[in-house]
Amino acid sequence: MVPRLYIVIPCYNEEAVLPITAPLFLEKIKSLMERKKIREDSRVLFVNDGSKDATWEIIQKLSADNPVFQGISLSRNRGHQNALLAGLMEAKDKCDITISIDCDGQDDIHAMDQMLDEYLDGAEVVYGVRSSRKKDSFFKRTTAQGYYRLLNVLGAEIVYNHADYRLVSSKVLKEFANFKEVNIFLRGMFPLVGFKSTCVYYERTERIAGQSHYPLRKMLSLAFDGITSFSVKPIRLITTLGFVVALLSAIGILWAIYAALTGNSVAGWASLASITCFLGGVQLVCIGIIGEYIGKMYLETKARPRYIIAEYTEEMDKENQT
Ligand code: UDP
Ligand code: MG
Repeated sequence: MVPRLYIVIPCYNEEAVLPITAPLFLEKIKSLMERKKIREDSRVLFVNDGSKDATWEIIQKLSADNPVFQGISLSRNRGHQNALLAGLMEAKDKCDITISIDCDGQDDIHAMDQMLDEYLDGAEVVYGVRSSRKKDSFFKRTTAQGYYRLLNVLGAEIVYNHADYRLVSSKVLKEFANFKEVNIFLRGMFPLVGFKSTCVYYERTERIAGQSHYPLRKMLSLAFDGITSFSVKPIRLITTLGFVVALLSAIGILWAIYAALTGNSVAGWASLASITCFLGGVQLVCIGIIGEYIGKMYLETKARPRYIIAEYTEEMDKENQT
């Protein structure tokens, strides 16, 4: 059976890049249709993540000109992960497979062919993996690789060098819909859903136009979310650290008693001050990490909606009503 495909593309302030990449997506989906790899009623689904520029107007115009293009618009900016989730959840009951991809042309759209082949061979999830990071700055490359290693050490199953370019079948998405957490890190969550999966390798290029929305601050916050959403090991490390410090201080106390008894106790103001400061720092870091988890729990218990769809393009609207 030929599958119906939805290509899901989150867009935030992308008016510079969308007019360039939309025709590329169209060309790709048309060529897949012509080769009978996907159904004729397959779609490109844009998710406007509360853009402040003309992104939503561009999406509406694309959709008016060609029904292959469809779009939903979130009520406000919710961030890449939530926008993508909104698109996937919208698509899951309408199609057989989704492919999520960024709208900036960085991910090689031709890898989709291979992803589809893997799907036809039985894979339910196909991860797009960057084969090299030559185009990245040295800083981004080393920090990213260190980060993936760290995540694995901390016990989050995560595919090395895979971001959010992936094929997911609607079967998997329907199971995924039961993951109700508010703190989401999709690339770490799909491995948890399970099902047969495989990887497809591609070269990642530079952004075609516009700017990255991931400055260092957001990158660090995504990185931190990734760790704290998947692993409680940092809290365990704190306990271990506590034991180590306690042991060291016990040794220190024994040493101090010994020094006092043998009469050569020193007027050690400097050492005392530095130990106090050091321990103060350790404690603050530990409280911070625990606080991060409590904050996450707070957000989870509130269970607020992860996104709110404000508007649909016309055809989607009709399709939803029938
Ligand atoms: N994006 C989004 N909401 C945001 C930030 C980004 O939907 O708040 C989208 C953006 O339009 C793009 C994708 O997420 O399609 C990846 O963002 P970007 O290219 O800026 O990140 P980078 O590739 O530099 O990591
Ligand atoms: Mg990008």
